[in-house]
Amino acid sequence: MNNTASLSTLDINLDAVTRNYLFLNKKMKLGADCGAVVKADAYGLGAGPVAKTLYAQNCRHFFVATFDEGAAVRAVLPEALIYVLHGPHGAAEEDFAAQNLVPVLNSLPDIEYWTAFAAKTGRKQAAILHIDTGMNRLGLGRADVTKLPFDALKSLDIRYVMSHLACPDTPAHPMNRAQLELFRTLTAAMGRPFRYSLANSAGILLGEDWHFDLTRPGCGIYGINPLNEGPNPMQPVVTLSGMILQVRDIDAPGTVGYGATYPVSPPAKTATVSLGYADGYFRSLTGQGSVFIGGKKCPVVGRVSMDSIVADITALETMPRPGDMAEIIGPHQTADDVAKQAGTIGYEVLTALGNRYKRVYTGAQDESSRRNEDAAA
Ligand SMILES: *Cc1c(COP(=O)(O)O)cnc(C)c1O
Repeated sequence: MNNTASLSTLDINLDAVTRNYLFLNKKMKLGADCGAVVKADAYGLGAGPVAKTLYAQNCRHFFVATFDEGAAVRAVLPEALIYVLHGPHGAAEEDFAAQNLVPVLNSLPDIEYWTAFAAKTGRKQAAILHIDTGMNRLGLGRADVTKLPFDALKSLDIRYVMSHLACPDTPAHPMNRAQLELFRTLTAAMGRPFRYSLANSAGILLGEDWHFDLTRPGCGIYGINPLNEGPNPMQPVVTLSGMILQVRDIDAPGTVGYGATYPVSPPAKTATVSLGYADGYFRSLTGQGSVFIGGKKCPVVGRVSMDSIVADITALETMPRPGDMAEIIGPHQTADDVAKQAGTIGYEVLTALGNRYKRVYTGAQDESSRRNEDAAA
């Protein structure tokens, strides 16, 4: 996977992934399972290595958005339970069954489609039922729940009934309690007991009432703060470094970058760093972002380009040299910090990271890779 032609490096600390998973797992109510959401290529960090790492910690339940994402996880985890949030779409029913991927049924037509498949195969087909309790995004509405075809449902193997929280990153938000109550009411109206799933990362931190039988943390595993405010209980997973391509001595008054928006005059020095908006360093960081060089903060000046940014290094005591690295995400600024500067959330920073980086995984992914590393040492 390593692309040796790229100059910037994305370090993914799988030991931090492990610690974050164990932290969330330890918060769980006794008897409830802690799953993991590895959609969008594990939030941009690599579904294969992340899923193997979590499986080695006894995580058995994995959520993805699409069939293709599920198939990618299946390729590395033949035994795991894998659920597809977007439902039984994007591939033939037979392919879902062949890959042993369990769709989340988000609507009455989804249920009809899946029960028809069960009838065709003469086998109970596995599924999760999703009911909406306030997101108004996916899932059966209140009226749909009263119309549930209970007889037809008997032809399905309903693993869980789930819903999704809209505001758990704000623990005091009244939606959290309201959704919990509605979830209880709607599931009670379903006549027979199922197993249930409601909480994402932030939902786990709300407390045991929200845990039910299975939780679905994503962001926290990847080091993103599940909470809107306050200290981040998770450990950082990602370090992103850009290589300094050039150090420039500004010897005449001028401007930096496209649009000539940022004036510079001597004495000034700049460093051009090898990543840009095509690498997930958002153009909205123009005038907002900073990099750290030798641990010192250097503002990004001029517009963010596709493949490069320019940092003002005039104030540095020790000048860097081409080939030195600038910290984009690391000990001095987290993915959440960069997100704030860009006017977005840490989730978007991670999922936008792109594939031009040299990716370096530290920490063991599973027992066999650990053994291989020992053998190589
Ligand atoms: C993405 C997602 C999650 C994970 O949420 P985090 O905030 O990243 O923990 C859980 N459940 C559903 C339905 C999701 O779409």
